[in-house]
Amino acid sequence: MAESAARTFMRIRDLRKTYEVRRGLFGRARPLHAVAGVSFDVQAGTTFGLVGESGSGKTTIAKMLMLAEGPTSGSIVIDGQDLTALDRKQRGQFHRELQPVLQDPYSSLDPRMRIGRIIDEPLRIHGFGSRAAMDARIRELLELVGLPPDAARRFPHELSGGQRQRVSIARALGLSPKCMILDEPVSALDVSIQAQILNLLKDLQGALDLTYLLISHDLAVVAYMSQRIGVLYLGEFMEIADAREVVTNARHPYTQALIASVDARSGAIDGSAVSGEIPSPMNPPSGCTFHPRCPYAQARCRTEKPALRPLAPAHLVACHFAESISAPQYPLPTPAACMPIRRSHALPKEMT
Ligand code: SF4
Repeated sequence: MAESAARTFMRIRDLRKTYEVRRGLFGRARPLHAVAGVSFDVQAGTTFGLVGESGSGKTTIAKMLMLAEGPTSGSIVIDGQDLTALDRKQRGQFHRELQPVLQDPYSSLDPRMRIGRIIDEPLRIHGFGSRAAMDARIRELLELVGLPPDAARRFPHELSGGQRQRVSIARALGLSPKCMILDEPVSALDVSIQAQILNLLKDLQGALDLTYLLISHDLAVVAYMSQRIGVLYLGEFMEIADAREVVTNARHPYTQALIASVDARSGAIDGSAVSGEIPSPMNPPSGCTFHPRCPYAQARCRTEKPALRPLAPAHLVACHFAESISAPQYPLPTPAACMPIRRSHALPKEMT
């Protein structure tokens, strides 16, 4: 992993996504800047965490990386491939290499299909091989995610939420992807189950040299899983730094407010320490877009947009006054989901 960690796997530059939104049948179309120019790199075999309130643009970024949406402008290069230049055949091949694990394991699995069928669906689509080869692959995948072979004969409703998320992960791993987009992978699960799934994902990353883009509103989970973190607000980065730096030395007032608002029991952001509502991306504030909610705002903040600039070599902050804003004295609470961390992700009792 140390060797591959030095290789840039994902290179995003000035990525933008603007929707034209019309109010009413005859209303004038107005631009909604969901992603307003983000740039970041993800090293191979590592996790980059995208964190922010809902409406910050993190899911739109994921959709563009998964080719579900085209960017308005900017570039996405993944494993040496420019996604904006792929032809139809190359797009099909690319889908093998980057797989999503979505938030809700209840709605993401077809309730009428047996688990074996759900897992082998992408194998069949991509012509994996003979029936015997696919059956062997299904058994291998079930074992990899800690499920017994007979899980293949069951239906999703016979499994718990954690077991279903293991099935989603097995399905995503079927074609041996290099990268997984983890979109709120544990937010629909009980806290006690969250730790098992997070540890499973970590173990799989180490064993298979996977690169993860983790999207979550849960800063504590993002900090636990990621090497680098990007804090998004209204489609722009407010701060990018190593996870440890974000946890101990956050310098943007928005990041600090997110840390202060983490619920000590669940680890999730409850928003209570961020005053006011997130503004509409159709009508973003002038200057620093965070200024209406920022306790440090000064006159300059209302007119002059702060650049995302290095405070230290690997620590970028978009704030005029980052040098004079001290890091919070309170640490990020350990998420409850990660407190009972065990390195094993043993089979759930009911499956043994
Ligand atoms: Fe707050 Fe001004 Fe910094 Fe924006 S630039 S985060 S408003 S202090």
